[in-house]
Amino acid sequence: MTRIDLHTHSLVSDGTDTPTQLVQKAAAEGLDVIALSDHDTFDGLREAKLAGEKAGVEVLGGMEFSTRHNGHSVHLLAYGCDPHDQDLLDELARVRVGRSDRVPAMVAKLTELGMPLTVDDILAVSSGASLGRPHVADAMVAKGYVASRDEAFRDWLYDGGPAYVDRYCTALPDAVDLVHRAHGVTVLAHPWGRGRRDDLPEWFLAELVNENGLDGIEVDHPDHDDETREALRGVAARLGLLATGASDHHGLGKTRNPLGACTTDPQVYAEIVRRIRARGGRP
Ligand code: AMP
Ligand code: FE
Ligand code: FE
Ligand code: ZN
Repeated sequence: MTRIDLHTHSLVSDGTDTPTQLVQKAAAEGLDVIALSDHDTFDGLREAKLAGEKAGVEVLGGMEFSTRHNGHSVHLLAYGCDPHDQDLLDELARVRVGRSDRVPAMVAKLTELGMPLTVDDILAVSSGASLGRPHVADAMVAKGYVASRDEAFRDWLYDGGPAYVDRYCTALPDAVDLVHRAHGVTVLAHPWGRGRRDDLPEWFLAELVNENGLDGIEVDHPDHDDETREALRGVAARLGLLATGASDHHGLGKTRNPLGACTTDPQVYAEIVRRIRARGGRP
C-alpha cells in the first residue's frame, strides 16, 4: 500500500526537523510520498527533494499559504507551484514581512505580562525564514516561562489571547488565484478543525469552487474528529472536490501529529499530479 502524507513542516517554518531530517524520518516510517508544506515559503523544497532522491521518498513541493476570510485565519495548501513565479513570491514576501513585523509587539506584550523577552530571543530559536507564534512559544520555553508550545498557546498566544498580535494575510480567493496562476493545485488545510466549521460553511466552499476553481479540501487531519471527517467527505463529494489526508507534522512542536497520522488516497494524489502537469507545472 502506497502511503502518502501531503502536509508537513520543517524548521524552515515552524517544524523542528531540517528538511533532510524530515525526509529521512518519512523513509524510516515507511512513507512513499510526502509534501513539504512550510508556511508561506518554498525555501526548504530544494533540500527536501535532494534528500528524497537519496532516501527513496517522493517529495511533492508544497507550501501552506496564510490567508484570511471574514477576519478569520484560513490555511491554504498549495502543491506544485512554480517556486519562481514573481507575483506569488511578492505576495509571500509580504506575508512573511507581516510575520516578522509583529514580533516586537508580541515581545512587548509578554514583557509587560512579566515574561521579559527580546526579538533576538525569538530569532535565536528560528531559521528566520518564516517566523511564527511557535517560535515565540519556543523562546518562552527556553526562558522557563512555560513548559511547552501547547502551554504557551493555551495560556498566552491563542487567537485573541493576552500576547496575541494580528498579522497581514492574503485574502483567500486572491491566494487561490495566485497559486493557480503559478501552475499550482489548491487544497484548503484543516477547514473545519478547532471549531472553525462556521467560518467556512459549505455554501462558501461552493463559491470558492465555482468562482476560483478550488481543487480540494483536507478531510483526514488530526484536528478533525470522525464526525467532521464524514461531513467533509460529503461536502467533497457534493462539490466535486479532491479529499486529501495528512498529518500536519511539526516535528516535536506538535505532539498529536506524527508523520503519516493521516494519509491521502493514491488516486487522489495521482489526480493532484495530473492537474499540476495540465497547468504547465512540474510536480
Ligand atoms: P502563526 O503562524 O504565527 O499564526 O501561528 C500559528 C501556528 O502555530 C500554526 O501553524 C500551528 O502550527 C501552530 N500552533 C497552533 N496552536 C498550537 C499549539 N497548541 N501547539 C503548538 N503549535 C500550535
Ligand atoms: Fe504551523
Ligand atoms: Fe495549518
Ligand atoms: Zn500546517
